[in-house]
Amino acid sequence: MNKLYDLIVVGGGPGGITAGIYAKRAGLDVVIIERNVPGGAITTTSEVENYTGITKIGGIELATKMFEHASSLSIPFIWDEVKKIIPDGEEKVVECYQETYKAKAVIIAVGASVRKLNIDKERQLIGKGVSYCATCDGSLYKDKIVAIVGGGNTALEDCLYLSNIAKKVYLIHRREEFRGQNILVNQLKEKSNVQLILNSVVSDINGDNKIESIVVENKITKVKQEIKIDGLFICIGRGPDTEMIDGNININSSGYIITDENMKTNYDGIYAIGDIRNSPLKQILCACSDGAIASTKAFEYIKTKNK
Ligand code: NAP
Repeated sequence: MNKLYDLIVVGGGPGGITAGIYAKRAGLDVVIIERNVPGGAITTTSEVENYTGITKIGGIELATKMFEHASSLSIPFIWDEVKKIIPDGEEKVVECYQETYKAKAVIIAVGASVRKLNIDKERQLIGKGVSYCATCDGSLYKDKIVAIVGGGNTALEDCLYLSNIAKKVYLIHRREEFRGQNILVNQLKEKSNVQLILNSVVSDINGDNKIESIVVENKITKVKQEIKIDGLFICIGRGPDTEMIDGNININSSGYIITDENMKTNYDGIYAIGDIRNSPLKQILCACSDGAIASTKAFEYIKTKNK
C-alpha cells in the first residue's frame, strides 16, 4: 500500500488541475490521477471562446497551459485508471489498475464520457470512419465527405471545424431547433459546404471494414435517405461515468454525483466537481470554480482532522 496523501484528485481536466493548484498552494500533499491526457474534454474541443480573459484559444493549447501551470508547482500526476473509490473511513482508498492509493480526502473530477447512438455497426466502425472527436480525427478527412450528429455546442463547433477541412459536411440533428448557441448556428449557415439535415436521425451505418454510408430518417415524414460519407462524427453529449463509486456515493436520477455548495458529497472528505456532479452548467469555467471551492473545503476538512 502506498503512502497516505493529504488529497487525491481523480481526473486531470480543468477542474481537477485547478483543485490541484489550490491544494498545492495551500500546502497540501496532493496528487492528480489521470487515465488519459491532462485537460480532459477540452483536448477534444477545437476552439474555446468563453474562458474569461482569453478571447480565443485551441482546446489542446489551453489544456497544455493548464498542465504547465500544474507542472510549474511540481504537482505530481499518476497515469493510471481508477477502478474503485472506497469513501468511508478516515483514510479514503482509491483503487487503480496498477496500484492502490490512500488519502485523507478525495476530489472526484472525472468528467463524463461520450454518449453513443447505440446502433448497429457503430462500435465496429470506431476508428474506421466512426469518431467522437473532430479535433482528434478531423485532419483525416481533408476534402472528404463527413456527417456530424448532434445539436449542442460540441456538434456545432465540430461542424465549423470540419467545414474548414472536409469537402462537404452534413449536420444531422433530431430537432428543428439547436440546443447550442445561436452565434455558432449563424456562423454555420454562412458555410457553403455545410448542409443541415433537421428533424432527422441516423438509423443505420453501412460498411464493413470502413464506413461507406449512413441512412438518415426524417422523424416527421419518415422518409429515409442513404448518404455516402467517409466519416461520421457523433457529438451527442456526454454522460456520467460513475462505476468507480460503486453505488456508495449519492447520485441523482441522471447519474450525476450530488454535492452541496461546498462540492461535498454525502461522505465527509469526498468531493465531486465539474461535469460529473449535478451542476447546472457544464463549462470549463464552472469546473475550475468547483475545483477551487472543493480544494479549499478539503483543506479545511484535513486541517480539522489533523488537530
Ligand atoms: P449537449 O449540450 O448535451 O447536446 C447534445 C446534443 O445531442 C443535443 O442537441 C441532443 O439533442 C443530441 N442528442 C442527444 N442524444 C441523442 C441521440 N441519441 N440521438 C441524436 N441526437 C442526440 O452536449 P454537448 O454539445 O457535447 O455539450 C455538453 C456541454 O458542454 C454543454 O453544456 C455545452 O454547452 C458545453 N460545451 C460548451 C462549449 C463552449 O462553451 N465552448 C463547447 C462544447 C460544449 P436534443 O437537443 O434534441 O436533446
